[in-house]
Amino acid sequence: MHRFATFHATTLSVRLGPVFPGSMMDFPLTLAHVAARTERLFPSVEVVARKPDRSIERSSWGAVIRRARRLAAALTRAGLREGDRVATLQWNGLAHVEAYLGVPLAGGVCHPLNLRLHPDEFGYIASHARDRFLLVDDVLLPVLESIRAKAPFERIFVVQHTNAPLPAGCESYTSLLASAGSEFMAPQLDERSAASMCYTSGTTGRPKGVLYTHRSILLHSLSQALAGDAPIAQRDCVFAVAPMFHVNSWGFPYTAALMGAKLVLPGPHLDAESLLDLLDQERVTLTSGVPTIWVAIRDALRAQPGRWRLEPGLRAIVGGSALPESLLREMAELGVQLFHCWGMTETSPIGTYGHVKSTQADFDDEAKFKILARQGYASPLVELRHVDDAGRVLPWDDEAIGELQCRGPWIAGSYFNSHESDERWTADGWFRTGDVVAIDSEGVIRIVDRSKDLVKSGGEWISSVALENALMAHSGVREAAVIGVPHPKWQERPIAVVALRPGASATAEELQQFLAERFAKWQVPDAVVFVEALPRTGVGKVRKSELRERYREFPWS
Ligand code: ADP
Repeated sequence: MHRFATFHATTLSVRLGPVFPGSMMDFPLTLAHVAARTERLFPSVEVVARKPDRSIERSSWGAVIRRARRLAAALTRAGLREGDRVATLQWNGLAHVEAYLGVPLAGGVCHPLNLRLHPDEFGYIASHARDRFLLVDDVLLPVLESIRAKAPFERIFVVQHTNAPLPAGCESYTSLLASAGSEFMAPQLDERSAASMCYTSGTTGRPKGVLYTHRSILLHSLSQALAGDAPIAQRDCVFAVAPMFHVNSWGFPYTAALMGAKLVLPGPHLDAESLLDLLDQERVTLTSGVPTIWVAIRDALRAQPGRWRLEPGLRAIVGGSALPESLLREMAELGVQLFHCWGMTETSPIGTYGHVKSTQADFDDEAKFKILARQGYASPLVELRHVDDAGRVLPWDDEAIGELQCRGPWIAGSYFNSHESDERWTADGWFRTGDVVAIDSEGVIRIVDRSKDLVKSGGEWISSVALENALMAHSGVREAAVIGVPHPKWQERPIAVVALRPGASATAEELQQFLAERFAKWQVPDAVVFVEALPRTGVGKVRKSELRERYREFPWS
């Protein structure tokens, strides 16, 4: 009892009294609570990471949180003030989790930089965020070199995985932790203060910063611990495959910490075989990843049947771009249940989860797959609506198509230090997502397209997502993207860019015929271009802007 009381004393900070006499405590929702709880209750639960040299490093929540506290103390000694940004340039690894917790415990803001960005974009983001310090994996020092002049960090601390000497102007992360001293007074954290930040990728203009607060992170984590058929529970072994620079690895590290679940991190090795090795060896029960990752895993499982033993009932949260129904079915045959969700950098990211409701439990498998191939319904505490061009709210009849808008406690209320995009919020307080959707009577959304990816042909809209999903159901197609290309008569016409499965063959006419059986004639792409692989963004989504540029002057005959 006594020890438990001590644990409480260290976590409670501000505004403890009831707001209204006779009501509940105003208990602050902060990462200080998560750190104290996990350290006390789950110190021996494992946190495991693959290092750049492919070896496996095993730690525990107790050790990770002790080191995170040391990091908080050392950063405070180094002059970190409340609200200061500390950038990270790191793969998914142990030191990155220490930063996720340690920086906010010191009152700072942990800002993971997307290491696959173009140097110009990188430099813009680091200087716009005014990142003071940087924590960088030594294997990523060449990336740092490309931006160092553009982003003058005050101090750079290198997490050393090799014995290579430190470059000039860099210090070691180990000596930073060693400088912590013993008298660190953790600041009183306000739940509405920022703990973390990510930038949008800039596909829709200049990258914009989104600040996540202690409160928003905790509430998002709680929702992940409740989510449909893929909640994160204490008994889970959670494999955070989504990069920690992509919307905080979709919240997995924070939720695993809050729940005391085992956490596994892939390091830089995101190829299907390395991922499958960890899924097998660590007995992973829940993981994450964009559809591309699952295409590669499907191909590896099919190519080498019996090589990997996956945990029965393995579940994966899949989002970031549309999950084709064919992939959902194929992975189910291979023993992995994929759960389709929708979200954005601005939504922390989870806005919806695919889920078959209890009232639909009697539906046959066909109908259930159809439900699960959609993006799901709103998480608790998130509200959704869709509106037409005039801002009128549309009915949930699965026919009316309009822009998805959302609001909730983990949806951005504005961008960091920028009024450039204030029009993204409506006068009545909803966030305009830029995604075009239909919503059915159960509240389940279907992403038709991003508004900028819709193809407008002769005044009619064509959904690129629907065509891509259909193409990917063809046995020869590995990946497909449909883009609108300027056309002299129709304003725009769709063309399909297709990468075939290894060893498969298909002609353009065959694929067009395949689509013609499922779509109206005017919706079928006028051309199919075959490529080895589709261009990808830093987080594995198809880079449609590059394809549009490549085929801008399409030789219509
Ligand atoms: P980026 O601009 O790099 O894609 P985000 O990761 O924030 O940055 O992307 C959010 C967008 O990804 C959404 O607005 C939506 O267009 C798309 N998206 C996310 N999840 C899904 C999904 N399940 N199906 C279709 N599109 C999705």
